[in-house]
Amino acid sequence: MTTTEAEAWQDLVAISADPPDRRDKCEQCKRPVVVCWCSELPQPPIAVSSQIVILQHPAEEKRSLRTAHMLQLGLEPGKCVVYKGKRFPNTKNYAELQTIFDSPQTLLLYPSKDSVPLEQIERSRGPYTLLLIDGTWPQAKAIYASSPVLHRLQQVKLIAVGISDYVIRTQPTEGCLSTLETAAQCLAVLESKPELRSTLVRPLHALCKYQLENGAVEHQSKEFLLKNNQYPKPIGKRLSRLLNYSNTVCGGALELEQRAVEQQT
Ligand SMILES: [Zn+2]
Repeated sequence: MTTTEAEAWQDLVAISADPPDRRDKCEQCKRPVVVCWCSELPQPPIAVSSQIVILQHPAEEKRSLRTAHMLQLGLEPGKCVVYKGKRFPNTKNYAELQTIFDSPQTLLLYPSKDSVPLEQIERSRGPYTLLLIDGTWPQAKAIYASSPVLHRLQQVKLIAVGISDYVIRTQPTEGCLSTLETAAQCLAVLESKPELRSTLVRPLHALCKYQLENGAVEHQSKEFLLKNNQYPKPIGKRLSRLLNYSNTVCGGALELEQRAVEQQT
């Protein structure tokens, strides 16, 4: 063994077999310092008259990049509140949520047949509290079904949605936005400040950029893959026709897609 090799060997055995107990984490976003997105947060946090209330499926926190947290930090304290559960209200949040549910100023973003475009809501009657359900579409539907109190709220939907900037995880359909993008778009409408959307989603852009540069795969949505014949499951004429017409907010298109797939199999 040469001296250099011996030295290299010494270096190697000096490295602990176990990783350090704790990676350096950012105090604010709780992410490792190298992937901290805090420098992209609006400074100071944005003051809004509306409030966002997120009803979050417990699995969502683990599964996603936790964009709700970006929203909380991007807005003034108290302007974005997150409640976790599979049905609402529940014993943990009953008192606080019941007040919100009883208020005529509360809107629920949910793509039902009764929902009206958010753009048509009378803004002079605000400020509003906007409820968002955070989870996959099946989780959101399950939360809605098991929370009857949500059914009597004024329901709204977003009409103008772009292709998601949230490129890391496969979106169920084009126009299906991450929680942050959805909330930012809604606030832009409710506050009549179009620039809010791009300002609030900057931390997400930074995170996606980092992930892409470091090897995360850029997924295309299932809808994109289907349209471009890259989806592994063969699709029929009816579904492909439907996909060509579907340009709705998350929910409508996915539901149709699922129904069509079920009918074929
Ligand atoms: Zn941070």
